[in-house]
This record gives sequence, structure tokens and C-alpha cells, in this order.
Amino acid sequence: MRTWRRAFITERCGRCGKPIETGAPVQEIQPLAGLRRPKLRCVACADEAEPVDLPALVARQIPMTPMAHIRTGLDTLPLDFKQRQMGREPGEDDD
Ligand SMILES: [Zn+2]
Repeated sequence: MRTWRRAFITERCGRCGKPIETGAPVQEIQPLAGLRRPKLRCVACADEAEPVDLPALVARQIPMTPMAHIRTGLDTLPLDFKQRQMGREPGEDDD
């Protein structure tokens, strides 16, 4: 089965080896077994003319969602034991 699509990334033609730039029409030839990767053909090497109504490549971006800040206690300052010991007499017991 032969289908036309636009190149998502810069791909290479399977016959002449020239790079197919992003957005350029590329012919995909699906093998019969369906297990191997499809063969790619550039416009010059394809056995049929590219369709006129091939839709343009639309770059799809996944919208970023802001991350929620979860307080774990790991981002606070470490315990300052010297500061905590201020004001104690030497040998004073804990209350
Ligand atoms: Zn080619």
C-alpha cells in the first residue's frame, strides 16, 4: 500500500538517499508482511505524482501543565543545633 504524507523529521529517501526535509511530501510504501518498516520515497523517486491536496504539516505541541509544589520538608534548611542550644546551661537536662 502506498500512501503520501509529510515528513515529520528530516528523513532519507530509500532509493536515492537524499534527505527529505521536514514538511516535504514523502511516499510511504508499506511492505506486505507488515513487520518491516515502510519504505520511503522522495518526490523525484516516487512512481506517482504527489497529491495536490496533501495537508500541510501541523506541528503539534503538548501543552505544559504547571507543576504543583508539594512540601516535603527537603527544601527547608537543615536543623541548626547550635542555634537551638543557645541559652542553655552546660549540663542542663531536656524539659
Ligand atoms: Zn529519492
